[in-house]
Amino acid sequence: MTIKRTSVIGFPRIGKKRELKFASEKFFKGELSEEELKKTAAELRLYGWQKQQEAGISFIPSNDFSFYDNLLDTAFLIGAVPANYKQLGLSDLETYFAVAHGYQGAKGDVKALPMKKWFNTNYHYIVPALDDQTKLELANAPKALAEYKEAKAAGIQTVPSLIGIYTFLRLATYNGNKTASDFADDAVKAYVQLAGQLNSAGAEWISIAEPALVFDTNDKEKALFKKIYTDLLAQIRKETNLKIVLQTYFGDVRDIYNELVSLGFDGIGLDFVEGRKSLELLKTGFPKDTLLFAGVINGKNIWRSEYAKKNALLDEIGKYVDGQDIVISTSCSLLHVPYTIESENLLSDASKKFLAFAEEKIKELYDIASKNAASLQQNKALFSEERVKKNEAVQQELGKLTDADFNRTPARNERKGIQKAIFQLPPYPTTTIGSFPQTADVRSNRAAYKKGAISAEQYKTFNRKKIAECIALQERLGLDVLVHGEFERNDMVEYFGNKLDGFIFTQNAWVQSYGTRCVKPPIVWGDVSRSAPITVEWSVYAQSLTKKPVKGMLTGPVTILNWSFPREDASLKEQAQQIGLAIRDEVLDLEKNGIRIIQIDEAALREKLPLRKSDWHSEYLDWAIPAFRLVHAKVKPETQIHTHMCYSEFGDIIKDIDAMDADVITFEASRSDLKLIDSLRDSNFQTQVGPGVYDIHSPRVPSVAEIVDTLHKIISKVNKENVWVNPDCGLKTRGEEETTASLKNLVAAAKQLRSE
Ligand code: GLN
Ligand code: ZN
Repeated sequence: MTIKRTSVIGFPRIGKKRELKFASEKFFKGELSEEELKKTAAELRLYGWQKQQEAGISFIPSNDFSFYDNLLDTAFLIGAVPANYKQLGLSDLETYFAVAHGYQGAKGDVKALPMKKWFNTNYHYIVPALDDQTKLELANAPKALAEYKEAKAAGIQTVPSLIGIYTFLRLATYNGNKTASDFADDAVKAYVQLAGQLNSAGAEWISIAEPALVFDTNDKEKALFKKIYTDLLAQIRKETNLKIVLQTYFGDVRDIYNELVSLGFDGIGLDFVEGRKSLELLKTGFPKDTLLFAGVINGKNIWRSEYAKKNALLDEIGKYVDGQDIVISTSCSLLHVPYTIESENLLSDASKKFLAFAEEKIKELYDIASKNAASLQQNKALFSEERVKKNEAVQQELGKLTDADFNRTPARNERKGIQKAIFQLPPYPTTTIGSFPQTADVRSNRAAYKKGAISAEQYKTFNRKKIAECIALQERLGLDVLVHGEFERNDMVEYFGNKLDGFIFTQNAWVQSYGTRCVKPPIVWGDVSRSAPITVEWSVYAQSLTKKPVKGMLTGPVTILNWSFPREDASLKEQAQQIGLAIRDEVLDLEKNGIRIIQIDEAALREKLPLRKSDWHSEYLDWAIPAFRLVHAKVKPETQIHTHMCYSEFGDIIKDIDAMDADVITFEASRSDLKLIDSLRDSNFQTQVGPGVYDIHSPRVPSVAEIVDTLHKIISKVNKENVWVNPDCGLKTRGEEETTASLKNLVAAAKQLRSE
């Protein structure tokens, strides 16, 4: 029996019990020393390496760990740190965190660099910023080297894993005249130097990830890629005997495959899960002395692999690599899945056996590589079972949908007039995105209820008190459209998933979203439906406390789906429609109970946009936008529908966002310098709009002057009558004090504009 070699692109690092999150947060509060934080980090790294070693993985990555984000690590690796952060005079680690989430303290006041979704995942990276003064050079004591040595000292040979120069330069922003190609030579020099150090330390392979190759790629970009790697390979070959695997993921590399295979890499990693064309590309030829790392185990979803299918795929792949060995790999980093199903005590064994998280996936890799007969047999038996039954009522409702279910009447402009007369809001109405600070008491109330330590009545009483305080605070602050504060929710998706039928839940299956923020995505297990109202009671109570409108607060179907682990046995379109129907019932119940403004968050709508433009509509928007329309098409003209999105990068799908036909949209903007407002103007955007006027991802309090300034920029481009004033996202991660101070300034800024 030949056992093939196996490779993992990256392993989770936040800790099975989110140890890194808690340690980092303590460190931020000054309750933990830098040494202690670093110790926790080292323990987590060791854990991951040992697990992979036990599972028999041949290529175990190092440097996949990060205190915040790997692209930010890359920026620090090659000295792409803007001067204003360095000037603070903080420790290296503190400087790093200052870039990641801002710094406001004794040594200065700087904003964080913007953050963006990492490709089509719910992980975020910090956007590197380069200007004409930036000089790229290898850092002293590079992290990749330190972590390689650390693993080696523990007796584990690893493959240092780096994000490639091309991807780094492609994702960076340029604040001067220089562009990507101006930085390439220096970056190559830094990587070559690092490669030398790694090689001297004992590394045999390094893995360079270039996920940006799965984007649409033009000739100029191709030329840049070619230049970078021609130089890099030549120099590394000259100075070291390292082997290099060029790793791609999140899709196929159709635009650049020919160049990729002709450069002479020792290994090339292709994604056969999301890469629809990878096999086809492979058929056009693959170099004889290059090792193929075949990504066949889904690094993004949590379902068990069907071994027979994987083996068939591998057999097919094998035909095109000229009898050479294949390395069996994950399709992308396992960062995007939780640690292990072993941590789940509440899921039934009947469900668990269909699931595989990171630690189970590395065993799958080995199972497949070793073609172990017993495990093949067991897997075959599993996949011959019926996992879940259809819900007939849901299927019937889906079958009955017609165009009218997706089209709200009358047209938006007419609704605007009707709503204006009803709500009588001042110009530049102020509002927030929904959640208020989730303080310790809020979390412990929820936790106590969940554990059964307090009764439903006690739980409710507490939340009602919080809602009453929240409403009173908003009235005191002078906000115009209020919210109840979302104290009953841990997470905007998990909350709804929990109350809908068709989802299953994990206890500890956390996945990193950004920095110390983790999410625990629900799993779409079967057909989705709603059996009872979900939010109505809270909203009605909040509304009873004030004459001002209180927004009902829901999560939209696309976001629920995008932030869940979807089924693999039903289409995404069908899953979105099922969820849409369930949320529609909730919208209509809120309306029936006197809630006049309803916000349906589509925080995650953009993030699953296919990475290639040519796929945007056919594979995604053509079902995603209708799924949102389905949710609100049946409300009365006087009910105002809001939506919210957690990003500002929708310049290129602006028509589609307008076509969601909401009355008002709020979105994140402040961190990206309001670039979107130009496209709002250019596209004659019809939806009323609240581009966030300050960044809630940081504790920094914006001044009135700053907000006024931002608002001036906004109204220089967007019709004043359409402008709302709000923070850029929910406030739940913020403290109470900074929230009150920020909102006070926000209201003062809006008032100043009204008086101008
Ligand atoms: N309504 C949610 C909140 O305020 C929206 C969160 C989000 O956009 N991520 O928390
Ligand atoms: Zn948001």
